[in-house]
Amino acid sequence: MSPAGGDDRLAVAVALDHGADDIVNNPPAAEELYARLRAAERFGNMQRELVCLAVTDSFTGMFNRRGFFEKAVQPCLRAGKGAPLCAIMADIDSFKRINDTHGHDAGDTAIFAVAHELMSGPRHAGRLGGEEFALLLEGRAMAEAAGIAEMLRGRIAMLRLPASEGHLSLTCSFGIGEWRAGDSIDTLLKRADMALYEAQLAGRDRVVVADQAFASPSYSSAGRPVRAARRK
Ligand code: GH3
Ligand code: MG
Ligand code: MG
Repeated sequence: MSPAGGDDRLAVAVALDHGADDIVNNPPAAEELYARLRAAERFGNMQRELVCLAVTDSFTGMFNRRGFFEKAVQPCLRAGKGAPLCAIMADIDSFKRINDTHGHDAGDTAIFAVAHELMSGPRHAGRLGGEEFALLLEGRAMAEAAGIAEMLRGRIAMLRLPASEGHLSLTCSFGIGEWRAGDSIDTLLKRADMALYEAQLAGRDRVVVADQAFASPSYSSAGRPVRAARRK
C-alpha cells in the first residue's frame, strides 16, 4: 500500500476489520518488513503456546479432556473407514483413601506417576477427571488393547511411591471398548467406561473388556465381562 491518502486509510481499516493481521507499505521498506515478520513470528509462537496450554493438563502434561476429544477426531474418522481402534478407560482404585491416608501431596504424586505410565508408548492419553484417564489405541484390536492394559495394570501395581511414612502402592482398574460401525467417540468411551465399572464392581485392580457379543451400539451389561483378569 502506498503512503497514506484518505482512501488508503479507509482501505487499511477495512482490511484489518476483515481479518488482516498486518498491513505493509508498498513497496515495503526492508527493515520494516523484517521487523513485521519477526513480530508475526512472535505472535504465531504465542498462539501455538496458548493452543497447547488449552489442550494440556498442566499437572501431568497429558491431554486434558478438551484436548483428548479434539485429538480423537481423526482417529475416529479413520476407524469409521475400517481402521482398528480401541479405547481404554482407567481409574485409580480407592484414590480418596490415598489422599485421606497419605495426604493430598502423596495423592498428587500418585496421579503423576500413573499418568507417566499411561503416557509411555505411542498412545493418545488424556486425563478426563481427577483420577480418571482415557487412552486411544489406533491400529489395535481388542486382544492387543487388553494386553497393553494388562501390562499397564501390572506396572502400576509395582510402583512404590514416596509417602510421609515409607512408601505407598496403588492399583488401577481398566475397561476396554473396541470401535464398532456407527460409533462415535462418546459411544466408544461409554462402552469402555461400562467395562471399567464392571472391573470396579468385580473387585478392582483388573482389566475388563466390553462384551463383544453385543453387536448393536448398546454396552456390555454389568456382570457379563468377556474377560476379567486378576494377577497378584
Ligand atoms: P473408586 O475406587 O470407586 O474409583 O473410588 P475413588 O476413591 O478412587 O474415587 P472418588 O471419586 O471417590 O474420589 C476421588 C478423589 O480424588 C476425590 C478428589 O478429592 C480427589 N482428587 C481429584 N483430583 C485430585 C488431584 O488432582 N489431586 C489429588 N490429590 N486428589 C484429587
Ligand atoms: Mg478411583
Ligand atoms: Mg473415579
